[in-house]
Amino acid sequence: MTAATYKNTQLLIDNQWCDAASGKTLPVVNPATGLEIGRVAFAGIADLDRALASAAKGFAIWRNTPAVERSNIMRKAAVLMRERAADIGALMTQEQGKPLIEAKMEAAASAEIIEWCAEEGRRVYGRLVPPRAMNVSAQVHKEPVGIVAAFTPWNFPINQVVRKLSAALATGCSIIVKAPEETPASPAALIQAFVDAGVPPGVISLVYGSPAEISSYLIPHPLVRKITFTGSTPVGKQLAAMAGQYMKRATMELGGHAPVIVAADADIALALKTAGTMKFRNAGQVCVSPTRFLVHNSIKAEFAKGMVAIAEKLRVADGMTEGAQMGPLANFRRVTAMEQLTADARAKGATIATGGERIGTSGNFFAPTVITDLPMNADLLNNEPFGPMAAIQGFDDLEEAITQANRLPFGLAGYAFTSSLKNAHILSKQLEVGMLWINQGGMAWAEMPFGGIKDSGYGSEGGTEILEAYVNTKAVSIVCV
Ligand code: NAD
Repeated sequence: MTAATYKNTQLLIDNQWCDAASGKTLPVVNPATGLEIGRVAFAGIADLDRALASAAKGFAIWRNTPAVERSNIMRKAAVLMRERAADIGALMTQEQGKPLIEAKMEAAASAEIIEWCAEEGRRVYGRLVPPRAMNVSAQVHKEPVGIVAAFTPWNFPINQVVRKLSAALATGCSIIVKAPEETPASPAALIQAFVDAGVPPGVISLVYGSPAEISSYLIPHPLVRKITFTGSTPVGKQLAAMAGQYMKRATMELGGHAPVIVAADADIALALKTAGTMKFRNAGQVCVSPTRFLVHNSIKAEFAKGMVAIAEKLRVADGMTEGAQMGPLANFRRVTAMEQLTADARAKGATIATGGERIGTSGNFFAPTVITDLPMNADLLNNEPFGPMAAIQGFDDLEEAITQANRLPFGLAGYAFTSSLKNAHILSKQLEVGMLWINQGGMAWAEMPFGGIKDSGYGSEGGTEILEAYVNTKAVSIVCV
């Protein structure tokens, strides 16, 4: 796969790839070069209406397909994703910027999510309840919610789709995916794998266009029964409010600002290696990225020095370059955001220990950045950076660190490093997060729940919980006469 093979992306309706009815398209830009590499079809209301009609037909077929058959088709899609991961990874790197190795891993890892949901879908059990009279059969049924509308972002173009798509398909729902316009080709390749595996027409539709226009049309639409969104907290709140207004089920996977507590008794080398790797993965554009490093004052200087060394050694380059460890930011909005956070920190007296500036003038490269000694009102300590930026603050006792960690409205991921079982126990009880990793990096394993609390959203996109949001519970009581 070379840059030359990047192609335009169309809409998928009724298992047919098609242009928008209006013929309108948007440019797709390589963030490493700033150059247009393709176009993506821009759906209007006429296209959405076609997708909705197709999804209604798809739902009628799919809900009546036995779970084991659905599972078999999904497993074929997983095999195809593993086979195609290298090619799909190259598409992703060109449109999103992450190093090729990370992009290939994301494409290949989608197979695990598909397989997990394919298996869990065979275990969506109802139950028999002991009845109050012996001629009564009291039953609990689990039924697919119906047509799902999914809105996914550009930071993990495949991973963010596959969690929603696999859960919907495993439970017998049909789904309309509004995938990211900035990174359209890799999610389209994921969906092609499902089409090639034998998913019937209408079960999956894929559209791109104006996110606000599409969400404000699909969410209120009577055919759509469930909304799922991954993205920023402000947009998530808007969409959740709209879903509430129309009484639609909703799953919201929103922003975070992950604290990393490094206790006095931590293995510092482990904390640095783990958190350093996690921090700069995908240039920090990860909802569970470690961002607020709360380090015991006795080891803070050593830790900060270690983070600076990691940041300065990273090879920042076009993700297609052999050996690149961090690529460009996915869009120029993030460069601007990094510059603003740095300027604010500097103006408020913080120390820019390394980085803090753009690299070059073509592409969206920004230097891995470490900032220390920020005042509490610094933007970086309050707003999710979503970029390659680490804030390091000191603390004296664990209670103080926990208070700092819980201070923000976010509650997505948290990390801690400690060799004390007692500390680990206290942290696991007291940190207000949906996911906590102690003495390790964030592992989004298919079999573990994935999701946040507080302003980071609700619903889980992993573990046995992943299918809950896609089924309705029906109580059925039959008197046998
Ligand atoms: P943004 O808030 O405009 O958009 C975030 C995502 O929401 C995008 O995918 C966008 O297409 C979508 N979106 C925006 N308005 C929408 C609407 N009305 N209806 C449906 N979808 C809509 O900002 P952005 O510049 O694209 O991203 C920046 C911020 O978004 C980051 O700071 C980060 O907090 C957040 N983000 C979070 C994740 C995540 O994994 N939770 C992923 C990407 C972005």
